Amino acid sequence: MDTIALDPRLSGATREFLGRVGKLLIDGKLVAAASGKTFPVYNPATGTIVCSVAEADHEDVDRAVKAARRAFDDDGWARTKPNERSRLLWKLADLLERHADEFAELESLDNGKPVAVARAADVPLAVDMFRYMAGWATKLTGSTIPLSMPGDYLSYTLREPVGVVGQIIPWNFPLLMAAWKLAPALAAGCTVVLKAAEQTPLSALRLGELVLEAGFPPGVVNILAGFGETAGAALAAHDLVDKVAFTGSTEVGKLIVHAATGNLKKVTLELGGKSPAIVFPDADVSKAIPGVASAIFFNHGQCCCAGSRLFVHRKIYDEVVDGVAAIASKIKMGPGLDPTTEMGPLVSEEQFARVSRYIGEGEREGAKVLAGGKHEGDGYFVKPTVLAATTPEMSVVKEEIFGPVVCAQPFDDSDIERIAKQANDTIYGLAASIWTRDGGLAHKLAARIRSGTVWINCHNVFDAALPFGGYKQSGWGREMGEAVFHSYMETKAVTTAL
Ligand code: ADP
Repeated sequence: MDTIALDPRLSGATREFLGRVGKLLIDGKLVAAASGKTFPVYNPATGTIVCSVAEADHEDVDRAVKAARRAFDDDGWARTKPNERSRLLWKLADLLERHADEFAELESLDNGKPVAVARAADVPLAVDMFRYMAGWATKLTGSTIPLSMPGDYLSYTLREPVGVVGQIIPWNFPLLMAAWKLAPALAAGCTVVLKAAEQTPLSALRLGELVLEAGFPPGVVNILAGFGETAGAALAAHDLVDKVAFTGSTEVGKLIVHAATGNLKKVTLELGGKSPAIVFPDADVSKAIPGVASAIFFNHGQCCCAGSRLFVHRKIYDEVVDGVAAIASKIKMGPGLDPTTEMGPLVSEEQFARVSRYIGEGEREGAKVLAGGKHEGDGYFVKPTVLAATTPEMSVVKEEIFGPVVCAQPFDDSDIERIAKQANDTIYGLAASIWTRDGGLAHKLAARIRSGTVWINCHNVFDAALPFGGYKQSGWGREMGEAVFHSYMETKAVTTAL
C-alpha cells in the first residue's frame, strides 16, 4: 500500500476520503457492492496502490437501474419543475466549487495529471458545465407547427426526457467527463446511472457524496465504480435503460452499439480521434509552435482530440517541428502532486505499454525521433515525443495512440482540396486545427474538414456552450451546448382537431 494517503501535500479532506473505502451511490444511499468486492486504485506516478473502492457488477447495475427507473417513472423526477432541477444542479456546482482543491488532488492522484492543471482546468470546467446546464433546464421548449392538411388543427411539440440513461465514461478527464454526462441528462429530466472508469473512480465517487448533500431525490443520480467488461457491459445491455451515453475508445464504442440492440436503446458515442494540426507558411510561428505542442502534449496526449498528426508547410517545417521538439524536451515531468510538474505519468501500466509499443513501432517503420521516445522514472512516465519523417501508411499516423506522441509530415502547396484530403485521410473525424493569418483560407478549409470541431489558430478550446462530437468513427451525437439535448430528449407531436 502506498503511503500517499499520508502525504502532507494532500489536504485533510482528501486524506480522509482516501481513508474510507469509496462507496457506490445507489438509490440515494452510499453502499458497498452487493458482492462485497473492492478493487485497488493505483497511483500512476509510482505504480503503487492508493486505496480501494467498491466494485460494482451486474447486480449493482441492476439495483441502480431499477432505482433510476422508479425515480423516473413513479417518483416524478421528469415532472419536477424545471427551476427545481436548475436549483439542484446549481447547488451541486457550488458544492463542487467549494471542494475544488480536494477534487484537483483526487484527479491528480488517480489520473496522474498535475494538480495545478486539474485545479485550473478540470474542476472549473466541470463546475461551469453544471451551471451552464442548470440554465437550460428552464429553456427546453417545444414549438407550434402550422399544418397544411385540410381542416383546422392545433399542433405543437412537447420535448420530454428520454428516460433512464446509462453513462459510461473514460479516465482522461474523470470529473469533467462525469459533468459532461450528468449535467445535461439531469437538466433534461432524465435519471442516470453513471459508471466511472476503473482506472479513475475517485472523483466520481466523491461527486456521489456531493449529489447526496445537494439533495437530489433518491434514484435520480446513481454512481458506480467497476470494470467495463462487467459493470459497463451490464449497463449498456440493460433492458430498463432508455439511452446509453458513452465516451471512450472506438473499439468499445462498437461493443456498446451491439449491447444496445436488445431493447434498441438510444446510443450516443464520443470516441477516438487522430486530429490534424495544419500549419501554413504565413502562420504566426511564435503562437503556432507552442499551440501545436500544447495540442498534443496537453493532458499527456490523453485527449480524444489531441493534435496527433502535424502537417507543416515545408517552408517553415524545420522551424516548427524543431520548435515543438525543443518544447517537448524542456517539459518537466514528475508526480502530479509536485507543484513544479508540467507533465505527469500516463494513467496506467496498460496505457504506458501501449504508448511505448507505438513509439517502438514508429521507429521500426522509419520515423525519426526528434524528442522523447523514452521512459522516465519509476511510474508510467513517457517523455513527450516528436516523430518526424512519418508517412501516411505508418501505424503511428493511422492509429490513435492516446499519448504524448506527435507525427510530423511536411506539405508543399496551399491547395485546399489536397490538404483537406490529407487531413481527412483517417477513419476518425473529431477535431482539427488550422494555423494561418489568411482568414479566407482558414474558413474554406474549415468547411472541407470532416470533423465535429475545427479550431483556427488555437486547439483544445472548450466551452460548455460549444457542441462537441465526432464525424465518421469518432462517434454519434454531440456533447455540450444546446445540441446535447437532441439525444437526451424525445420530441412528441400533439395534434388537436379544432
Ligand atoms: P480505454 O481503452 O482508453 O481504457 P475504454 O473505451 O476501454 O477506454 O473505456 C472507457 C469506458 O468504457 C470505461 O468506463 C470502461 O470501463 C468502459 N468499458 C470498457 N469495456 C466495456 C464494455 N465491453 N462494455 C461497456 N463498457 C466498457
